[in-house]
Amino acid sequence: MTIDQFNFAGKKAFVRVDFNVPLDENFNITDDTRMRAALPTLKKIVADGGSIIIGSHLGRPKGVTDKYSLKHILKHLEELLGTPVQFASDCVSEEAAAKAAALGAGEVLLLENLRFYAEEEGKPRGLADDATDEEKAAAKKAVKESQKEFTKKLASYADCYVNDAFGTAHRAHASTALIAQYFDKDHKMFGYLMEKEVKAVDKVLNDIHRPFTAIMGGSKVSSKIEIIENLLNKVDNLIITGGMTYTFTKALGGKIGLSICEDDKQDLALELIQKAKDKGVNLVLATDAKIADSFSNDANTQFCKVNEIPDGWEGLDIGPESEKIFADVIKSSKTILWNGPTGVFEFENFTHGSRAVGEAIVEATKNGAFSLVGGGDSVACVNKFGLAGGVSYVSTGGGALLEAIEGKVLPGIAAINE
Ligand code: AMP
Repeated sequence: MTIDQFNFAGKKAFVRVDFNVPLDENFNITDDTRMRAALPTLKKIVADGGSIIIGSHLGRPKGVTDKYSLKHILKHLEELLGTPVQFASDCVSEEAAAKAAALGAGEVLLLENLRFYAEEEGKPRGLADDATDEEKAAAKKAVKESQKEFTKKLASYADCYVNDAFGTAHRAHASTALIAQYFDKDHKMFGYLMEKEVKAVDKVLNDIHRPFTAIMGGSKVSSKIEIIENLLNKVDNLIITGGMTYTFTKALGGKIGLSICEDDKQDLALELIQKAKDKGVNLVLATDAKIADSFSNDANTQFCKVNEIPDGWEGLDIGPESEKIFADVIKSSKTILWNGPTGVFEFENFTHGSRAVGEAIVEATKNGAFSLVGGGDSVACVNKFGLAGGVSYVSTGGGALLEAIEGKVLPGIAAINE
C-alpha cells in the first residue's frame, strides 16, 4: 500500500516519525528539519479526515527523563501543523489508550518518548557492570518478552501503521519494525519522507550513472570501514577525507604532527589502498592540508604538504591543491554520494574544504549528476553553506543511509515490504 492510495477518512493511523531534534538548555528547538520533513505525511492524514497517534524517540534516555520529554516540542508541532495536538505523558498508559480511542477526524495525539521504555529498543537496562553472562541473557529474554506486550499495545491504538522515520529504519525496534506485524499489507505503508529516502537510495544502488564518486569524510576510519569496503565494489572514485586522512598518511610513511590518527588502523588503511588498486577504483586522498597550532578556530594556520606536517601542528582541513583535485573528480561525475566533512567544519576557519566539495557537487548536479548527501555533519554543511537546494537529495538518515548503501536490508523498510 502507498500513502497516496490510502484514504485515511475515519481511520486512526499510528505514525512513527523521527522528532529527535536538537534542543538548547531552555528546551528551544535549534533545528526543526526533522519535524518539517514529516509534515506532508501528517497533513495528508488530517486532510483525509483521519486521526493520528504520533510516536517518536528523543535522545537516548535510559528511563523517564524530563530532559528528553517530547512535551518540549508539543507547541512547535501545533504551530507547524496548524492544529491543536494532545499529549499522552506515558506512551502505554490507560490515559494514552483512552486518548487514542477518543480521537475524532483530524485530531492528533503525540505520545511521550517511546524510549522511556526499554521495550522500545528491546535492550535490557540497569544491568550491573559485573553481571554474569547468565544474568545478561535472562535480562535480555525478559525485555524481549515484555517487548511483545509493549508493541501490541502501541499497535492497538490504530487501524493502520505509517513509518516515516528513516533515521531509525536501520533499527529493529518496537515502533519502527516489530509493530508492522500487527497490520496487514493493505494497512501499513511508508510515509512520504520514507518513500523519498527509499527512492534516493535505490537510485544510488541500482540506477548508477558513471562515473560514480563517493566522498567519505569525518573523523575516524573505524566508524566508516564497512561502508568504505562496500563502496569499493561500487564506485569509480572514492575520496577519503576529513580526520581519516592522517591515518592513511601516517601509514604511507608521512609526518602528520598532532593530527588525529588511529594508529591501530594503519594496516587497514594500507589494505584499503591495495583493495582499491585491485578493483580499479581511483582512491583519492588529500595532498595538502590547512594546519593549525592548536585545536581551535583562533589557532595560527598555514598550508603544507599533507605528509610534511611539522611537530606541534595538526591538519584541520584540506588545502587548496586538494580542493582542486577533489573538485575536478566531483565535477566529472554522474552519481555522487557525500558523507562527512573534509575538516573541522564547526570552526569557521576550517570550513573552506567542505564548502569547496559542496560547491563542486552543486555544479556537477547542475550538469546532470544525481547527488545524494547524508549523515548529520554533511547535511549541516550543505545547510550552513546554503547549498541544500543545489543537490539532488539531502537525506535525513545518517547510519540508516550508510547501512542502506552498504546493501543491508533495513528492518524498518523490510517490515513494510514483507
Ligand atoms: P563523523 O562523526 O565521523 O562523521 O565525523 C565528523 C567530525 O569529524 C566533525 O565533527 C569534524 O569536526 C571531524 N573532523 C573532520 N576533519 C577533522 C580533522 N582533520 N581533525 C579532527 N576532526 C576532524
